[in-house]
Amino acid sequence: MDHLLKIHRFSFNHPESMNLDFEEVDWLKEIFNDLDSIREKFPDQEKDMLQVELQLVRKTNSTFNDHFIIRGKINCHYYAPCIRCLAPSKETINVDFAACYLLASLENSEEYKDLSDIYCDGEEMDLYFFDKGKIDLKELVNEHVHLNANPHPVHSENCKGLCSLCGFNLNFGKCIHHRIEKK
Ligand SMILES: [Zn+2]
Ligand SMILES: [Zn+2]
Repeated sequence: MDHLLKIHRFSFNHPESMNLDFEEVDWLKEIFNDLDSIREKFPDQEKDMLQVELQLVRKTNSTFNDHFIIRGKINCHYYAPCIRCLAPSKETINVDFAACYLLASLENSEEYKDLSDIYCDGEEMDLYFFDKGKIDLKELVNEHVHLNANPHPVHSENCKGLCSLCGFNLNFGKCIHHRIEKK
């Protein structure tokens, strides 16, 4: 499935849904691979995954003219290196988002040029503009994955980290620097 969506193939007020799985959709796999820098399989733990559910509808009204609404749900399990000791830390992203795409010709208008969200279809949505009649789903999903990824993964609350002098992993004992300190 291509990540560029041509909006003219949607008729107005006909919602469509898509369920995307990274096992089947190449561009979703690319997003996952960027996120999961460890890329190891952990057989006895929960499986890695990235699934996205999208509800799409094209609408038109006197305020926005032709516009496109996407409501999405991202469900992701991945591993990231612990910021203290670099061991794999299991991370989850579970997030809902809503995006409204307006005509690119409005992007630099006084009304919209400084906005990043907009009230549309009964709720606050992220504001985007569609260029040449296309919506980039990869860009949209990638942005919400990265906005919601844990910036400080820690593999365990009790992680003692690495010695800053010799790099010894203090979860497995004490190096000479830490032995001296304790006396
Ligand atoms: Zn750790
Ligand atoms: Zn040390």
